[in-house]
Amino acid sequence: MWCYETLHPDIKLGIKGKSLYKKKTAHQNCQISKTKDFGNVLFLDGAIQTTEADEYIYHEMLVHPLLLTHPKPENVLIVGGGDGGVLRELFKYPIKEAIMVEIDRTVIDLSKKYLPKISKGSFRDNRLGLIIDDGAKYIKETPKKFDIVIVDSPDPVGPANALFSKKFYQGVSKVLKPNGVMIRQTGSVFLQSEILKSNYRRIKKIFPQTFIQLVSIPTYIGGFFSFIIAAKKINFLKAKKSKIKKKYSKLNLKTKYYNPDIQFASLQLPNNLKELVK
Ligand code: SAM
Repeated sequence: MWCYETLHPDIKLGIKGKSLYKKKTAHQNCQISKTKDFGNVLFLDGAIQTTEADEYIYHEMLVHPLLLTHPKPENVLIVGGGDGGVLRELFKYPIKEAIMVEIDRTVIDLSKKYLPKISKGSFRDNRLGLIIDDGAKYIKETPKKFDIVIVDSPDPVGPANALFSKKFYQGVSKVLKPNGVMIRQTGSVFLQSEILKSNYRRIKKIFPQTFIQLVSIPTYIGGFFSFIIAAKKINFLKAKKSKIKKKYSKLNLKTKYYNPDIQFASLQLPNNLKELVK
């Protein structure tokens, strides 16, 4: 049996495996497959969201650069993130509160059942405030303020579309405290360059400090996978590596991919992307 990712119109990624679950929720098509090389895999609307084998790269690089560079992260908002990987990494820090706004409870239930090693019980942490709702609506309506916003959304497909708009980013800026930072995934540099470029330009107009972070994630095909880090004040290129290294060892963080050197290396860009950020 083969399971195919159908995110890209003219390219398919096939992974040998069998379907364990397939159902349409009110928001999206959810599928879980058991595969030989990547363990259990979560698909939403045909796009690979996360796999047991390589999820740690994505979740560590979504969390640790921000949590270690922000001087005092206490309140964190996660938009999306239903598989619980971001929560697992986040709760390695002494933060006060993590509000997660996830639109589809089915994703949480499926992830707990078929991908338990990703959340590792983090949904039971008493610092979690879980809200089942549209993240774009929450951002517009909440009076709360956050040090960090992590947008762990799928690609701009279906309900996630609203999480790539100028209005959404203006809302993120509104809910961030004066020294706040946001991070979001912006897809494959090679296969989704338009998503990266348009979102970089949109975010750059709102956040003075905007950076592209590049990571290689095997099941997110198309070369480097990109994140955008957007801060009101913090310049991630000028952050003190010695300070970050000290925090990293003081917290005795256990990470499989992230380390402070990789954090700085991942912000270095090839010429074609240097053009974009000029
Ligand atoms: N690692 C994945 C990626 O890079 O594509 C993202 C993983 S996570 C499973 C994505 C989550 O975002 C899903 O659980 C989905 O239900 C949720 N989501 C999509 N649109 C949303 C919205 N408008 N508000 C809140 N959550 C949303």
